[in-house]
Amino acid sequence: MNRPILYSIASLAVILSPLDSVQAADAGATAVNHARPFEPAVKPALLPLRPGAVEPAGWLRDWAQAARHGITGHLDEWHPTFADGWKGVPIKAPGAKRDGTGWPIEQSAYWLDGALRLGLVLHDDALISKIRARLDPVVRGVIQAEFGTTFIHWKKGKPQGFDSWAHSQMGRALVALHQGTGDQRVLEALIKVYADYPTNMGSLQLGGNVTGLCNLDAMLETYSFSGDRRILERALHAITQPELAKDIQAWKTGRLTPGHMVILYENIRLPGLVYPWSADANHLQATLGAFKWLDDYHLLPYGVASGEEFASGIGAFRKTETCDVTAMLLSASWMYRIQGEGGWGDRMERAFFNAGAAPVARDFQTMCYYQSPNRLRSDSLPCEQPHAPGPANIRFTPLGCSNVLCCVGALNRIIPHYIIHMWMATRDNGLAATLYGPCTVSALTGAGVPVKVSTTTDYPFGPTIRLRVEPARAVSFPLYLRIPGWCKSPQLTVNGSPVAIAPDPKGFARIARTWAKDDWVELELPMAPEVIRGYETEFPSANRTYYSFEPAEVFQPRRLPYASVLCGPLLFALPIADLDPNTPASDAKWQYALDTDATRPDGGITVERRPMPARWDWPLAAPIVLKAPVQAFDWRPTDAQALPPKPVTGTASETVRLIPYGCTKFRISMFPVTSRAWPPDSQPQVPPH
Ligand SMILES: [Zn+2]
Repeated sequence: MNRPILYSIASLAVILSPLDSVQAADAGATAVNHARPFEPAVKPALLPLRPGAVEPAGWLRDWAQAARHGITGHLDEWHPTFADGWKGVPIKAPGAKRDGTGWPIEQSAYWLDGALRLGLVLHDDALISKIRARLDPVVRGVIQAEFGTTFIHWKKGKPQGFDSWAHSQMGRALVALHQGTGDQRVLEALIKVYADYPTNMGSLQLGGNVTGLCNLDAMLETYSFSGDRRILERALHAITQPELAKDIQAWKTGRLTPGHMVILYENIRLPGLVYPWSADANHLQATLGAFKWLDDYHLLPYGVASGEEFASGIGAFRKTETCDVTAMLLSASWMYRIQGEGGWGDRMERAFFNAGAAPVARDFQTMCYYQSPNRLRSDSLPCEQPHAPGPANIRFTPLGCSNVLCCVGALNRIIPHYIIHMWMATRDNGLAATLYGPCTVSALTGAGVPVKVSTTTDYPFGPTIRLRVEPARAVSFPLYLRIPGWCKSPQLTVNGSPVAIAPDPKGFARIARTWAKDDWVELELPMAPEVIRGYETEFPSANRTYYSFEPAEVFQPRRLPYASVLCGPLLFALPIADLDPNTPASDAKWQYALDTDATRPDGGITVERRPMPARWDWPLAAPIVLKAPVQAFDWRPTDAQALPPKPVTGTASETVRLIPYGCTKFRISMFPVTSRAWPPDSQPQVPPH
């Protein structure tokens, strides 16, 4: 990313005067469209719209519909975990307890939340009804129970440990149900539960256990709708426990221990999430410090960190659990709301368009637990180690890894979560285009005037974004367009007339005018190939618990050079054609080193574009193709050593076609390099141990 997130206090959300405290917000009405009735002292820069306000169009709608007709729409028909989760009945499933809790309530809550949100963004009444038939009984159970109950209403007492974490996932689903439908009974249930939730929910430790602190998302959302101060007091008490202060202090300065990556992505946002309410800058800095640490030592080129199950360093056969993609997008979207930095949009797009697409089959009928930058076969390279979560963890099946069902549940959140956050409201009663893609948004602007903005684009497969503005009546409001950090020469026209672009410090171009029906804006975001370089590193020693059977050499310090190719938000890969997601073409040739020109930012790579297909399914026949110089060489990667130790010399330079990473099932996206592609002064970043 060319314009990184500003990891400093200088880039805070809008801070209002001390007088504008929680109490003041509690007391009064606000003129800000889409603001919550009860707002924090530090006002979040962006205001999310209700699920369903943004509806996907074009290629994105095709993909969302594939999810609807595939895993997301049917998972309850495929396994008892999803058929019976949250019914309060015993479930015949891995990790289930006799009382109807355990793994299934985590995994089915992931699915229920994702499927509900997909139904809402697609305005698909049948899917919404199907999920409501599962969520309404939870709401009813809470309302009929005594005060002091929880979403696990069929069980006496407060959930601890894993069940409290699983409870947080149901909290998120119910927040979406309230937001998406306006059903006050759902809010009543949320208040009843969180007004009496334990304040000691768990720790921020990253090593091994999920935490009930993840209920903070739903608690703070519930407070922002209800103003029930018992909830806010409990949330602030939970995050200010003395034993948490040490972690918060360490994260601020980038001192983290490589822990379980789902826990890492879920936990590191928690101090930042509370920051608007606590107004303690240490909370924000802790989250920013943790994200920077992940960027420096674990981020893979597709925009999400490695995690097998622990943070696993950087490497061409390192793997990322699909749950990590979901958790990363969730945490990044919270920080986007709070800070309003366009860099979070760059980050979310890179993760969504690349890591979001790779782990699911084109027909959305199968998925995999782990993805990897390079994938040559479906049984090794990358290998199936570690044993967690179990055999076949890199194969595509209807349930992913069939004995651990978290990923097939969490997968369903990825698409709707992106769509919901494509537009957000601004505090000056405007609208911000926060993530790009084809869609239509309906929201209030100016003095509460409804407006619809339709976005027609092939983005990220094409550079042109056309917005048509349709207010109910002429209305003055600012329209903010995110200018991605990678874009060097954006161009803008309003009703055909060129407008100079001067992005503000947060990376947005602001167009303030009176908008009338059929006004239109065209934003051109030219994308140029960009070669990024880095080093494969060793596995962090914290992974030894998972790697006792691996050769010791994977823990020995290593600095193996690699290069990857980006163009706009897309990572590009040398595709290995597939017969199906588990069967690569046998004659594929992939033994190449990237031979780009290190003196040029684009490396001498050229771009070819073709029309978008009539229906989008992440095809090998991609609408954007890069032609890159490579050299063939005798490359024999092993699971323990994916890349050569230094730049290689191959045969004569030739040209290969690269396509978007998300269109591939087998591929090379972290390439060995020739000397020509590797500047002699490259210095490795040394990870901490
Ligand atoms: Zn998972």
